[in-house]
Amino acid sequence: MADDRIAVVTGGNRGIGFAICRGLAAKGVQVVLAARDPGKGEAAAAALRKEGLPVRCHPLDASDPASVEALAAFVGKEYGRLDILVNNAAIRNDRDHSVLDVPVEVIQEAMGTNALGPLLLCQRLAPWLKKSRAGRVVNVSSGMGSIAQMGSGSPAYRLSKVAINALTRLLADELKGSGVLVNACHPGWVRTEMGGTGASKSPEEGADTPIWLALLPDGGPTGGFFRDRQPMPW
Ligand code: NAP
Repeated sequence: MADDRIAVVTGGNRGIGFAICRGLAAKGVQVVLAARDPGKGEAAAAALRKEGLPVRCHPLDASDPASVEALAAFVGKEYGRLDILVNNAAIRNDRDHSVLDVPVEVIQEAMGTNALGPLLLCQRLAPWLKKSRAGRVVNVSSGMGSIAQMGSGSPAYRLSKVAINALTRLLADELKGSGVLVNACHPGWVRTEMGGTGASKSPEEGADTPIWLALLPDGGPTGGFFRDRQPMPW
């Protein structure tokens, strides 16, 4: 495929999202780095442009439907199609809570950003993804959303990641035959603000599987959950 692909990466201003933006742009993909703080987003995009990479910023608060609408309108007007959507933005706001005491507001906040945001983005961007020759959706999930590996702690975050995993299966089935491949992944334990300094992987290593899924060839897997480019249990 010619290097004229367009990607939207949410939460692209730092952490794994920033590394995904850099990795995709280094492959020649034109990246829209979506960030909730326009100042931080512009600074991140400018840093990548300084490296000679094709990256521009657009504001996005994934928890705000109006902001999602604005991004989708921008993509439609500017490009008329979308090749890659990486739902990377997320919060982990519940480290001090157990499932027995987590306030409903904490669950709502996590679900709003980590699950409903990606759902809305998929809804609003699906028309443009269907116009792509090879649309790809990558949902950056977590091992903490795997029911097979479910444990206690971080209940709101875990529930939101279970939901984005379910969204992955729903969407993959819905878009079967359209050429759009939809997959989820666990990036591993990564040294970011969320992962902390003691984590085992660099942001670049954490970005490897999401980038691989974003650039899957036609006929690649859809409806899967991957870690280190290998299937993992839901
Ligand atoms: P991070 O360093 O905390 O970065 C999170 C990014 O999401 C930031 O750019 C943040 O923007 C953005 N964000 C948060 N809420 C947003 C909203 N409402 N709208 C738009 N952007 C928003 O996290 P990370 O470690 O890079 O995590 C990236 C992804 O990997 C997440 O989906 C996370 O769940 C997943 N993950 C990470 C690990 C790990 O060990 N790090 C492990 C498993 C899964 P601001 O800068 O404005 O806050």
